[in-house]
Amino acid sequence: MHYIDLKNIKSWAKNYTGSYRLYYPKNVNEIKSILSKKNKIIAAGGFRSYGDSAINDTILSSKFLNKILNFDEKNGILRAQAGTTIEQMINFLIPKGWFLNVSPGTKYATLGGCIASDVHGKEHHKFGCFSEGLNKIKLLLNENEIVEIDRSSNPDLFYSTCGGMGLTGFILEAEINCKKIQSSEIYFNKYLNQSLDSVFQCFEKYSDYDYSVAWLDTIKSNNNYKSVFTCGNFSNSFKKKLKLNKKKENQYSF
Ligand SMILES: Cc1cc2nc3c(=O)[nH]c(=O)nc-3n(C[C@H](O)[C@H](O)[C@H](O)COP(=O)(O)OP(=O)(O)OC[C@H]3O[C@@H](n4cnc5c(N)ncnc54)[C@H](O)[C@@H]3O)c2cc1C
Repeated sequence: MHYIDLKNIKSWAKNYTGSYRLYYPKNVNEIKSILSKKNKIIAAGGFRSYGDSAINDTILSSKFLNKILNFDEKNGILRAQAGTTIEQMINFLIPKGWFLNVSPGTKYATLGGCIASDVHGKEHHKFGCFSEGLNKIKLLLNENEIVEIDRSSNPDLFYSTCGGMGLTGFILEAEINCKKIQSSEIYFNKYLNQSLDSVFQCFEKYSDYDYSVAWLDTIKSNNNYKSVFTCGNFSNSFKKKLKLNKKKENQYSF
């Protein structure tokens, strides 16, 4: 099985400076064989977490476990392997008129990583975290045991895996609900605020919008903080505009 040894390489948080072995299993049997021989193991997706949460002596990458397995186009239910990225899912869904219920600010995060960190996006006030739209998780508990769980069959394990940072097992696959869109375009409004109070008022006033975010200038000006508040919704009017936005995001990968 393919692996690389990384020495004195720092993770995103730049705290971990040790050496580690990074495995790229291609199927569940390869993961099991590593689990049976090694300890101090952690799963990894796109390495986009702000901390060093996907770093340990032995790392199991989901990079090659990245297939979309099924899509129920009528009900918008997507099943995919854990290493499938946000980018892959969006590229697959948008031309069909669907989108993710919850999407974080990086397209390189994986399905497994989004579940393990229970990520949120700019739709958090409306749709909650990633786990809200999660139906099922297929989880490898150890070298012998695979379980498929949902919130009623095994609530404790389900909820501890959402936001569990990889500590309950290796997520192999998951099934999520998606949301219907009429267009890939978002209509948005932007408001410049000169004080913290006014940006909070914006969040209250525009809470009906599906997406909202504010960027704050943390350097004080006139004894207060300036900010830009943006809120928006997917457009309903241009059905033909279900196209992909090729905007670039900084890329690095192991
Ligand atoms: C530019 C940028 C913007 C971001 N924006 C947001 C945002 O808006 N909202 C937000 O919530 N987060 C945001 N994040 C953080 C990021 O979305 C999360 O940290 C996410 O978990 C990263 O996913 P990943 O696939 O890269 O996981 P990794 O960073 O590789 O791993 C994160 C955790 O998930 C676990 N994990 C990964 N794969 C599996 C698996 N198959 N089975 C079990 N456990 C697994 C790891 O063990 C680790 O604990 C952002 C990060 C960046 C770099």
